[in-house]
Amino acid sequence: MADSVQDHMVVKLDYTLMIEGEIMESTADGEPIEFIQGTGQIIPGLEDALYGMKVGEKKTIEIQPEKAYGIYDPDSQEAAKKDEFSEEIPLDVGTFLDLRDDEGEVLSAQIIAADEDTVTLDFNHPLAGKVLTFEITISALRPATPEELDHGHAH
Ligand code: ZN
Repeated sequence: MADSVQDHMVVKLDYTLMIEGEIMESTADGEPIEFIQGTGQIIPGLEDALYGMKVGEKKTIEIQPEKAYGIYDPDSQEAAKKDEFSEEIPLDVGTFLDLRDDEGEVLSAQIIAADEDTVTLDFNHPLAGKVLTFEITISALRPATPEELDHGHAH
């Protein structure tokens, strides 16, 4: 059995995510995340960094936006009339909305500006354009079962 991270292994990973020195997320207060390596379940830069790591091994890695949540696209903003929204939705700056496009696809957007009649929606991922620093530890490792590979997730 392989003792380091390769494709189609179930990885249990503890991590702390920092952006510009500030902790954004951490598994320290909960359970490690679990996923099948090589199946794109985590961001590409993190997946790349894991290959060859062994159980118990720690690393600090920096991931550029291109290998994380993408570069920030300033054209990915749109103005919308406030009266197009249901009155129950608070249209405050900072609010995240799930919107449906013409094809019925759900898009997430954040309100980044608002005036009397209109809001400006930003469709970029909240972490787009950010350099991510991860402190990672492999907490467990095993080969995925055929059933897990078939389902595309760890059991
Ligand atoms: Zn399943």
